[in-house]
Amino acid sequence: MVSQEIKKSSHMPLSLMLNKIKLQKKGTTIDFFGGEPTLHPFFMKALEFTRERGFSATIATNGRMFFYDDYVKKIARLGVESIRVSLYGNTAKIHDYITNSEGSFDQTIMGLRNIVRNKIAVRVNIVVTKLNYKHLKEIVVLLRSIGVRMIKFSNLSISGNLLKNKALIPDLEKVKPCLESAVRYSRKKKMSVYIEKTPLCLLPELHKKIFIWEPDAGEDKRAKLKECRDCFCKNNCSWRPTGYPYKTYWVSPIGKFNKGFPVLQN
Ligand code: SF4
Repeated sequence: MVSQEIKKSSHMPLSLMLNKIKLQKKGTTIDFFGGEPTLHPFFMKALEFTRERGFSATIATNGRMFFYDDYVKKIARLGVESIRVSLYGNTAKIHDYITNSEGSFDQTIMGLRNIVRNKIAVRVNIVVTKLNYKHLKEIVVLLRSIGVRMIKFSNLSISGNLLKNKALIPDLEKVKPCLESAVRYSRKKKMSVYIEKTPLCLLPELHKKIFIWEPDAGEDKRAKLKECRDCFCKNNCSWRPTGYPYKTYWVSPIGKFNKGFPVLQN
């Protein structure tokens, strides 16, 4: 039960949260993200305060609390601008395995249905792993059937626990045809497609069809490959090969004649 998880988790004090919100400049969008913001016992209070202060709000969530329609209605009334939901598979078996929480897939999918029904803008973050890369198109088909129109394919960032256990990291060479097919399908169905932490040279021929989420801010100092030195897109490509366990011979710099690539928009 989500309510039991709320009781168990530790939180930023409400006063600190409200102070942080208070200090923002006029016109700021307050982004609530995790851990899991909906598990914070005063999340709703913070949202109400955000609204009272005239700020807009966005939320990054696992979507499970949105299973409850009353909850979604409250969020909608508070004028939340958009919600970002993470999804790890097209089946409960895959999604629940990654989240380590039985029933989470069903809750997230119902949550997405409720969000769409309540007309809140939603973007689904499809985290690409070894378990789901063959099903990317099926995930998109599922999302489209729910009414989701904005998706993001996010590659894993190889850090923290992933450095010790690389079992979930997919071979990007194998991901490529599945990702291409999923992107082509999504665009054909007029969905907006973003990619994140993915080598741009993996999809060079799709450059006019995708947006890049958070282009390289240059904050990640981990080395790129020598091939990247001459790449016209190196300042936008946020993929880092450090710790990547497969061959990278397919990496090839994007030349200046591809300068239409990438389309940047958050
Ligand atoms: S060559 Fe390197 S910098 Fe350029 S798109 Fe490929 S991975 Fe990114």
